[in-house]
Amino acid sequence: MLNFASLGSGSKGNATLVEDHGTLLLIDDGFSLKETCKRLATLEKQTDDITAILVTHEHGDHISGVGRFAKKYNIPVWLTEGTRKAAEKTLADITSINLFNTHETFCIDAIQIQPVTVPHDAREPSQFIFTNGDHKLGLLTDTGSITPHIISMYDHCDALILESNHDDQMLLQSIYPQHLKQRISGRLGHLGNHQSADLLTKLNTSKLKHMIAAHLSEHNNCIAKVKTSLATALGCEENWIEIADQEIGFGWRGCL
Ligand SMILES: [Zn+2]
Ligand SMILES: [Zn+2]
Repeated sequence: MLNFASLGSGSKGNATLVEDHGTLLLIDDGFSLKETCKRLATLEKQTDDITAILVTHEHGDHISGVGRFAKKYNIPVWLTEGTRKAAEKTLADITSINLFNTHETFCIDAIQIQPVTVPHDAREPSQFIFTNGDHKLGLLTDTGSITPHIISMYDHCDALILESNHDDQMLLQSIYPQHLKQRISGRLGHLGNHQSADLLTKLNTSKLKHMIAAHLSEHNNCIAKVKTSLATALGCEENWIEIADQEIGFGWRGCL
């Protein structure tokens, strides 16, 4: 059984857990050491339980906690060469750095990890699809636009953690400076509600049992708009759409 949970999601810090048969992967860590341990404990996990850390890209909300955490608890880190280069200082002195190629699937114990290249303003960003043979979990955040590659990769997921960063109108009217608005809504920025909804209409979602909206903007989005947008795309009840919270993430879910 492929289980997953979140320690928190949003521009103040991200971390996701994926577990199968005792193998526990931490994807990104944008929290302090103390905060990471506290949030792990809430999900009934300890630092010793973590098998490996996977990093999506070098932005602080994903990597700021990785170096210290990996060093202190001697946990191997997996990332692309581009992310390693971009985050050299943060990752100095980690004993085990493992590079993955975004075009090749790799395994950590029984969990198969398929990296997915995404358009985002980082050096070599990658999102992930996790499978254990029976089930498929897609994680997709920090993506500025949808590519044919993304559509082909995220088809037939049992569970999706999908960025729904902003509402276009709210972003347009927000107090953010113009350059930041352009960055967020640009091709290498973040997925807005309508883009995520559009992606869902292009995917085969017949197996989808968990739909979790993630990386919501604190200022340029609201839960009601996210739920309406994604539920309309899926033709489901709004209450079925779940939200990954910045403070509490979300509790354990499983692909049954
Ligand atoms: Zn981010
Ligand atoms: Zn980012």
